[in-house]
Amino acid sequence: MKAYRYRIEPDEKQVEFLAKQFGCSRFVYNWALDLKTKAWQTERKGISVFEISRQMTLLKKEKEWLSEVASQPLQQSLIHLDKAFTGFFKKKTDYPRYKSKWGKQSASFPQNVEVEFSSGTIVFPKIGRIKARFSRTFTGVVKTVTITKTVTGKYFASVLVESENQAPVPVPDVEETAVGLDLGLTHFLTLSTGEKVEHPKHPEKDLDRIKALHQRVSRKKKGSKNRRKAIVKLALAYERVSNKRDDFLQKVSTRLVRDFGTLCFEDLNVAGMTQNRHLSRHIGQSGWSKFKILCEGKASANGKHIRTIGRFEPSSKLCSCGYRNKDLSLSDRTWVCPVCKTTHDRDILAANNIKRFAFVKQNTSGGTGGESGEMPVNKRDRRTRKSQE
Ligand SMILES: [Zn+2]
Repeated sequence: MKAYRYRIEPDEKQVEFLAKQFGCSRFVYNWALDLKTKAWQTERKGISVFEISRQMTLLKKEKEWLSEVASQPLQQSLIHLDKAFTGFFKKKTDYPRYKSKWGKQSASFPQNVEVEFSSGTIVFPKIGRIKARFSRTFTGVVKTVTITKTVTGKYFASVLVESENQAPVPVPDVEETAVGLDLGLTHFLTLSTGEKVEHPKHPEKDLDRIKALHQRVSRKKKGSKNRRKAIVKLALAYERVSNKRDDFLQKVSTRLVRDFGTLCFEDLNVAGMTQNRHLSRHIGQSGWSKFKILCEGKASANGKHIRTIGRFEPSSKLCSCGYRNKDLSLSDRTWVCPVCKTTHDRDILAANNIKRFAFVKQNTSGGTGGESGEMPVNKRDRRTRKSQE
């Protein structure tokens, strides 16, 4: 399954219809959330999608306007809510919240949508043809199509496609064509080849503007028209920053997957790192996890490989001669090995160690741990070790 996102341009009538469609989807979602919450609070029981779906049929008789819009997205709203509850019960997400008229709007069509590249349109049940800007084409079977309207008033169609393409022939997964990648704060990325990729330029200026717009929103009276206007301006500023960032992440990931056979990452415990206030801003800006997801997608589409090693402390402290620099602090950018006299750039060294350890056979870990005396350990190992200390 692959997703394609296109800007769409509904005409005046379609905009009106979509407003109604979004409104009904939202209404059904909030109505079902209400039912589920009450059932849980009073009887400590859940309600299945099938049961809610049955009750929605009754609701539709009562509220006739629900039948004026496409019915598939209403069903999908129930399924989305069910997924939100599943996430909540698995303790992965917060309790589902009511959908607001002012947030991002969406409606999903699980079938009967036609994507027509020839006419530059997408055809939806009940809505008809909507003009689309096709930035790229695809072959395959169209599955779910979701229409969204952003806070800034733009419309998009996300098309989920079941690809008919054969999986590409994988290239050899060997150390010779691999690259080690160290994600860092001073640079976005350091390659084991020695190359350093800077963070995207001038984000500070954009962030200052966002900060100022935030303040403007908070000064306006709640529920006022001026506050709405300020919120849209703020959302536009966010949109610009994230577009710039996405563009950067796309370019870097495309180049790496093109140039190398295997990309080696260190499993950055991003959740743990963001607890540090100073680091979190940088990490949020640079979007490492999104970057890795992009690399994974592009690698699998091109027969390339990803290797991830457990996070291990000495990636920037371990010389290839086996010496370990225990005193290295975050501010030391370079250091000289007292044993073999090699000068190390900490980031390049880390990238090289990540590559080296990515190709160490993990199943030999029962032994002494190799010549370096230090094998990468995964998170669980670290935890056990800590609790033993
Ligand atoms: Zn050394």
